[in-house]
Amino acid sequence: MGANRHMSVDSRGRYTPEAAGETMPGSEGPAGSRSHNLISTRRGSLMQEPVLVLNATYEPINVTAVRRAMVLMLKGVAQAEEMHNAEVHSAAHAHKVPSVIRLLAYRHIPQQSRALSRKNILLRDRNTCQFCVRVFPSSELTLDHVMPRSRGGRSTWENLVACCYRCNNSKGDRTPEEAGLKLARKPRPFTLHTSRQLMRLIGHRDERWRKYLFY
Ligand SMILES: [Zn+2]
Repeated sequence: MGANRHMSVDSRGRYTPEAAGETMPGSEGPAGSRSHNLISTRRGSLMQEPVLVLNATYEPINVTAVRRAMVLMLKGVAQAEEMHNAEVHSAAHAHKVPSVIRLLAYRHIPQQSRALSRKNILLRDRNTCQFCVRVFPSSELTLDHVMPRSRGGRSTWENLVACCYRCNNSKGDRTPEEAGLKLARKPRPFTLHTSRQLMRLIGHRDERWRKYLFY
């Protein structure tokens, strides 16, 4: 079950801003970097735990990491709605760690900004190769363009699927039909439903997310 969790961190071991939505305010830039350094902790992994981000209206819009959630709180951009039973320590203070935060000002989230990323495609497809229908660790999966890029296939939610290396090799630069392969199911476009599903998968171990995601 750790697999889902690890899928959502980037190469630096952080939850990426686009985990389930779009870039959050204060996520980039020198100010953010400085704030990050205010919090030093030996519990590095705790700082990477996922935090559900709610809009001012309590609509779930994103998943971020504890580290950035705390930066948003320190900047007064967000406030904690639910807390973990854990603390991190900076030089002078103990800080309670949030599990769910809420933005204090409403942000309009355009649907098309929803992140298309390897980890989100793998989450959507539940780490299952869409051709041989076997489950693999993320490291053993690649993304396949159903209609190959060389033939004008685009990188979209509808044209990308999780695929094991073996199936990817045997498919090559062909369509599934030409390669004698069959898709387990038609790749779904990104919708609000997908977004909620991804957030549930990321937060399935945290009961405190449930009431915001309705499951
Ligand atoms: Zn396969």
